[in-house]
Amino acid sequence: MQMYTSASPTHRWLGPGSVVALACAGLAACGGGDAGPAPAESAFVPQDASGTVRGQLPAVGAGGSAGTAAPPAPPVPRGGATPAETADLMVEAALAGDPARYLELVAAADPELATEQRNWAADLRRRRPSELALALEDVGVEGVAGVEGVEGAVATATVRARWRMPGSAEPRSASWPARFVRGAGAGGGWRYAGETWERIEGDGVVVLYLPGSEGAARGAAATLPAIRRRVHLALAIPGDDALARHGQVVKLYPSMAHLQASIYLSYADGLSGWHEPGESLKLLVTAHTTTERLGLVLAHEYTHAATFSLGAAADDMPWWVEEGVAELLAPAAAAPGRARLEWPAARAAMQQRARAHGVVDFRELADFEGAARAHTDAVYDQGRAMAAFVRARHGDAGLRTWLRYLAAGASLEDATRETLGTSFADLERAFRAEVAPAR
Ligand SMILES: [Zn+2]
Repeated sequence: MQMYTSASPTHRWLGPGSVVALACAGLAACGGGDAGPAPAESAFVPQDASGTVRGQLPAVGAGGSAGTAAPPAPPVPRGGATPAETADLMVEAALAGDPARYLELVAAADPELATEQRNWAADLRRRRPSELALALEDVGVEGVAGVEGVEGAVATATVRARWRMPGSAEPRSASWPARFVRGAGAGGGWRYAGETWERIEGDGVVVLYLPGSEGAARGAAATLPAIRRRVHLALAIPGDDALARHGQVVKLYPSMAHLQASIYLSYADGLSGWHEPGESLKLLVTAHTTTERLGLVLAHEYTHAATFSLGAAADDMPWWVEEGVAELLAPAAAAPGRARLEWPAARAAMQQRARAHGVVDFRELADFEGAARAHTDAVYDQGRAMAAFVRARHGDAGLRTWLRYLAAGASLEDATRETLGTSFADLERAFRAEVAPAR
């Protein structure tokens, strides 16, 4: 689990009282503005049984004991009769803590949206909202050319979400422009299809954004291709690797509330970017986001994407390793000609931090869902310092091999012994001796 972006100033833009987020955050199709013909069935909508039933009928046919074959039941639409009814059903599913039912109400035409909505819904099992309302405003419905009658249609609406998590005094809220689509057959009824994004493409990159963020979207589309190449070089990921060949989807959120809500309802920490395996790179972009800042956040989040590609268990490596490597590599990956962060500078920053806050036990920085939440700054700062320390002692290849072992599922202890030739306890002792020498 993890990923969010660096503890830079943007992290803390919102004051403590800020209200946020929403409910069905979803992403809109990377398939873009036009809904196309009948929406693809979402990957997680269970297959309905009608095909099986129809297949049996002919066999029964010939002399047929008519009594044995039940007439095929008419397909039961999984979505609502109107977009507003679908929104009500989404609320019902969320309040019931029922991810499967919620996902039946989502039309995910692209893999990123499917993953994001799956992760959004999965959180309902861990932390169910005590209140939730999804109001639709400005609903407009149009048929889709080439689709028969009313079987296929797309609706747009502004979703206004308001909810409260148990134990929190303040309700939170967010709004965003969204699409709903109606398909035929058992997947029929209206289903939520994420935001109504605008779209810009770059070399191997698709940037989805909302009106008002065109400049940042153009900047992201122009700079991300080179950022990707620099990250691939830093991690020795070949140009023909699946990661390099796969187009990267970026989504730009114009408010903290919207971005947080797109992650899941219970997510309330400040952040400037987010990435999980299989999701798009999500960035907060406001009028205050500078070009330099945009590049740094893109580089940080894309480093996560690259790290996740190193092995099937990459998402299970200690949180501080993931953030530390992203923080270490991002500055040099963000723009051409930027010097990379070397150990002397990283050590000086860490020594300053150690004087002010001490050095946190790395075991306390491992779990995104656990103790590490109380030490977020240390996750990033100490993680970056340790990644720089490993690279200084063992070289780029040593750092990469250590990461690959972790990504393949090795424990921190095993990966450290196997690839760095020392126990993690000894590595940590050596690190502490450099950054917080005993007097
Ligand atoms: Zn991060």
